[in-house]
Amino acid sequence: MYTCINCGAHVDKLYRRYSPSVLKIVKCENCGKFADKYVEYDPVIVLVDLVLLEKPAYRHLLYNNDFNAYWKLLIVLILGESFRQWTNREEQLKASGLIPSPSSPLLLSSVNHRPEYKFEFRNETMDLVGFQSERDFYFLLGHTALALGGFACAVLFFTELRWRVFGGRPSSYEPKHLVRALVIGGCAKLLDLLSIVWHHVDPEPHGFLIYGYTVLCLLTAYSVVCESGRASSLIALTVGLWVHNYVYKILGQYLPTTNVTLLQT
Ligand SMILES: [Zn+2]
Repeated sequence: MYTCINCGAHVDKLYRRYSPSVLKIVKCENCGKFADKYVEYDPVIVLVDLVLLEKPAYRHLLYNNDFNAYWKLLIVLILGESFRQWTNREEQLKASGLIPSPSSPLLLSSVNHRPEYKFEFRNETMDLVGFQSERDFYFLLGHTALALGGFACAVLFFTELRWRVFGGRPSSYEPKHLVRALVIGGCAKLLDLLSIVWHHVDPEPHGFLIYGYTVLCLLTAYSVVCESGRASSLIALTVGLWVHNYVYKILGQYLPTTNVTLLQT
């Protein structure tokens, strides 16, 4: 069973094949348009339409495509978000002087009175900082996975609750489609990695734009799967984002902090 990318109605087939090189796209009986024009399109065109927040492109990817590597996308998303958080954390600690950079005056002045151990001490100290930073990254991986899990569970729970109270549950709805939609929409957050590569002078406006665009992607993906309006979609996503931020805040209290006492001895 396939789905018309224009109206979301079910269609039995997307095209009829008359010969190995000739096929004709089937029209939807509900809306009269071609059921899925993307069958003939290059995947790059589909990707461009996804970036442009076209709902038909989201329907094509979610319902009429054999793409199944959502778990890989999820792993990339967790790794990317954790790396961004880890980099920001490192930058903040370096800016506040809690972690010495290789040219840190604190580190150099602390070893200058022992020139015979200067290089050895510095290398050991940097190794220690590196180990603690790497350990922080693994903590952040678990932290990010739990926060994203909380986000998905909150959206799923709120959506089910809304349908039980007010009705309107689509007949074709399956929770796995909503999880996949959230993964696709959430991948827009990977654009945040560009700020690490480009070293923006003022990263806050960039982060704000990426966050806004990610919410729009999630909104489009959610409304496609749940066939809901903007207001109800936004409410469900707001609940999910609130839980996501809450989990981040709670778990953030248990993140280890780099022990700088050793660096100053
Ligand atoms: Zn249709």
